[in-house]
Amino acid sequence: MGNTIGSDPLTPDYKCVHMSNGLTDVFFNVLVLSGSALAQSVEQKQLIVWLAEHDQSRVGRGTVGFDLCDMPWDPATFAEDKGFLIQAISAAKERLGWEKLDYQPNEDILFPCLDLFAELLSGMDASKIQPEALKEWLAAAEPDDPVLCGFPRCSKHQILLTVFGCHICNDQGVGRFGRAAGVRHPAL
Ligand SMILES: [Zn+2]
Repeated sequence: MGNTIGSDPLTPDYKCVHMSNGLTDVFFNVLVLSGSALAQSVEQKQLIVWLAEHDQSRVGRGTVGFDLCDMPWDPATFAEDKGFLIQAISAAKERLGWEKLDYQPNEDILFPCLDLFAELLSGMDASKIQPEALKEWLAAAEPDDPVLCGFPRCSKHQILLTVFGCHICNDQGVGRFGRAAGVRHPAL
């Protein structure tokens, strides 16, 4: 079990980040926290919402892997948006927003995954974009989807909401089954 985030699978230098299901929750929590705080443009907010939709509590454990070319990049702002995501990864490593989490991520396990994700992004170029990915994703959204409604945020965590709600609130539902506040995420 687990989830894999990869570069373009059709290239010979394919690389990937593989994470357990629990680590995947933490990975998206910290990225969505920093990305929501730093996103300025519509394109950047869309990318963070898309990442936050990889919510295992709603779509199933071990089903949220993806390749970078699957992401809804806007070709017009690709370079800027790639830079933004790399900046969001750096900010996550500086623990931006972590005070809003009810657990302390295990940095020894998490940071190498963030580093590798940044490396994959750095190595991606515009030729790998699937130009239809963004249009198809938006076309599939219902009219009341947060991505089409001005990017509302969770009042508690201030992160961008998705059609599934707040990635962190949903993850914290796990706490009802025995995880006390302030302790490590159960998978770490
Ligand atoms: Zn929340």
